[in-house]
Amino acid sequence: MGAKPCPICKLNASIEQPYNVLAYEIECERCGRFGISDILFLVLGPGQGDLSPADRSLLPYLSAHTKQATTQGVVVMLDTDNWREYARAHTRTPVSQKVRKLLELLADRSSYPGEVAKISAEVDYPLLDAKSVEGFKYFFEHLGELEYIEEVQVSHPEAAKGLLGCVVTVEGWKRLEPPAGGGIPGLCFIAMSFHTSLNEAYQLGIHAAVRECGFEPVRIDLEHHNEKFLRQDLGGDPDGSVHGGRLHTPARWGILRGGLCDGTGAPCRLDLQRR
Ligand SMILES: [Zn+2]
Repeated sequence: MGAKPCPICKLNASIEQPYNVLAYEIECERCGRFGISDILFLVLGPGQGDLSPADRSLLPYLSAHTKQATTQGVVVMLDTDNWREYARAHTRTPVSQKVRKLLELLADRSSYPGEVAKISAEVDYPLLDAKSVEGFKYFFEHLGELEYIEEVQVSHPEAAKGLLGCVVTVEGWKRLEPPAGGGIPGLCFIAMSFHTSLNEAYQLGIHAAVRECGFEPVRIDLEHHNEKFLRQDLGGDPDGSVHGGRLHTPARWGILRGGLCDGTGAPCRLDLQRR
């Protein structure tokens, strides 16, 4: 099919329909890479004219879901049953988290402190659950007011493409540092079962929440491991209790019980029980 308007945001996108499959593969600069059922493709339609105002207001947040999933290496398959839930998961992100997401994004795009980071208001606003280019620019300016970034002029061609440039300041880098104290910076536990019926709960709830807290989720059932490795990695006691370590809970080991160590300095401790 080639380049056509993206069904979500209407930006020109690559749209392919694999042979004999009732779905489309979309690659959009703003919404990332995702699949969409042919029925939803029609529902969203060229002009989205038949969508209710409530549904239409969800679309920027659907872009947020597909774009963020793309950055995690996940290709989301959208259909008429799931798209609203995926979008709604991004509608209530607190302002403070949007500000932090943007600062983290800019830091990620600086390979060393002092390097100019470039970001596009036009295509990157879904990465912080912003609703629009204007919303993105608001948060970008706010980071400048907080003196976490210093805006840098970009070239005319870059500016014409909507790129913004900045340097993350020392204050900005300090803001991203983990708080001092006990615990292991950057590591936390979350207890959940990996039964397939909970995949959506993981994707929409746990995965999104962990990332919003500034962590990278690691699912043990998707990692190569053996029991010995797991025990060493968790630093577990022979009796099965666990102190510190990564989010590692293979179903065959049972479920880690306890709570969430959020990396704020509180000691992590969870109890591991065999089924
Ligand atoms: Zn798009």
